[in-house]
Amino acid sequence: MDSKKKVLIGIAWTYANSDIHLGHIVAYMAGDVLARYHRAKGNDVLMVSGTDSHGTPITERAIRENKTPDEIVDRYHKQFVEVFKRLGMTYDCYTKTATPYHIEKVQEMILRLKENGYIYPKTEPASFCPKCNKFVYDREVEVVCPKCGAVSKGDQCGNCDYVFQAEDLLSGKCRICGSQTVVRDNTNLYFKLSEFEKPLREHFEKSKGYWRKNAVNETEKFLNEGLHDRAVTRDLSWGVPVPLPNFDDKRIYVWIEALWGYVTATQLYCENNNRDWRDFWYKSDEHENLIYMFHGKDNIVFHTIIFPALLMATKEPYVMPEHCVSAEFLNVNGEKISKSKGNGWPMLDMLDKFDADSLRYFCIANGPEKHDSNFTFADYHALHNGEIVNKFGNFVNRTLKFKGLNGVLPNGEMDEKIKAEIENTYKKVENNILSNNFKDALSDVMALVDLGNKYYDEKEPWKLFRENKAEFDNVIYTCVQIIANLSNLFEPFMPFASRKLRNYLGLEKPSWEYVSVELGENFGEIEPLFTRLTEKDVL
Ligand SMILES: [Zn+2]
Ligand SMILES: [Zn+2]
Repeated sequence: MDSKKKVLIGIAWTYANSDIHLGHIVAYMAGDVLARYHRAKGNDVLMVSGTDSHGTPITERAIRENKTPDEIVDRYHKQFVEVFKRLGMTYDCYTKTATPYHIEKVQEMILRLKENGYIYPKTEPASFCPKCNKFVYDREVEVVCPKCGAVSKGDQCGNCDYVFQAEDLLSGKCRICGSQTVVRDNTNLYFKLSEFEKPLREHFEKSKGYWRKNAVNETEKFLNEGLHDRAVTRDLSWGVPVPLPNFDDKRIYVWIEALWGYVTATQLYCENNNRDWRDFWYKSDEHENLIYMFHGKDNIVFHTIIFPALLMATKEPYVMPEHCVSAEFLNVNGEKISKSKGNGWPMLDMLDKFDADSLRYFCIANGPEKHDSNFTFADYHALHNGEIVNKFGNFVNRTLKFKGLNGVLPNGEMDEKIKAEIENTYKKVENNILSNNFKDALSDVMALVDLGNKYYDEKEPWKLFRENKAEFDNVIYTCVQIIANLSNLFEPFMPFASRKLRNYLGLEKPSWEYVSVELGENFGEIEPLFTRLTEKDVL
């Protein structure tokens, strides 16, 4: 068996109709931490995602702005790509669903499911607008709630949260033109999700130990409510065309094709890089496969139930995505992030103002892992100045820029106790990363920084420099070895600072084991790793 694991990391697809904000990033960032950790371990990692490009909200925005849907998608896609690049997210393939490649691969999958008997046409009454001459759906229909009488759009009452039944939606008003809708028979394709109850329960029992509580609870609830077949097509103009006759005026429903993007992005990458995509997605006797999915809690059942069902329905030997990492929500100043409030802190603006590593650190340290978390600028400032600058930055600075060294680090003897602590830190961080406790993993790295500072303070190298040069050399040597190992341990969390440290110390690439650096050479000019934030530094 190949000792190298194949690790596929799928990060949720961002929808291309508004700015990407901090609430998205806190759900994605842990995926990049995991990818960087596995790469440092020497595993074969592929991290994929893309821009979710189809559906009504995008066409609505296009009409409002007098643009084509393609132009809207391109604008946001470019923004997302820039944000990920500046944040140091290491996507091997970041694509979008509005590409001929994705469209073709989705159509192949649909035909395969049809061939296997899991896709069938179903005719049922639906709301039709005679004036617009089209079927209208949830957000296009205004409904009077039968429970409380409030006027609502969508599939749930905005006033009393009552979930509308199919018949409630039949007596609405078209929101596009204001006409009363009529009931007409409509034929759509459906996916036989109900057929997969048994294997999905087995998948749930097998995988739930890897999931967070939110995913376990929500998936169990969904399974217990009974699985219903799901519509695969919709009356849309912007999306993947249905590869079957008599569906020219419909498109593939976004939920199914965007989920399939995890597979098509892998295929795209592998095709362009002479790799076999099946290495990552098919069961193998040759190597171990790990598939991880990172997303927010509003997307849980798509990843724990619906996507596995699609993979099963192909009847191909897919590995199930067992590791689902579902983030809770991030609130801002105690409030839910909402588009109407515009309080989501657009990521591009944040990257213009703040250090990328520091934002990454904050996303993990303050990440909504087990419950919703809150973002305030006061917390961010405190964390940046208190943890990153005062502890980590200062330890590096006071060691490498010690006055009197003149840029030449002395050789000495490593403090064995410290060495044992460093080795122990690798194990602790690894265990926490592999248990999806990214926040704890970062705390473990910071504990080593604290230990370094404590060691430095206790040894008082500024006195030893004059009084005991041999001991001074040992202390500085030991501190430098701590820094060398911090460059590995921080690599998943703060890759830009880690790279700077490797450059100073002549380390070529990150690894996940104890490293020691040979000293005695001039290591050049040391720049401070981070700049302190002042009261004026707000968004
Ligand atoms: Zn109501
Ligand atoms: Zn209408």
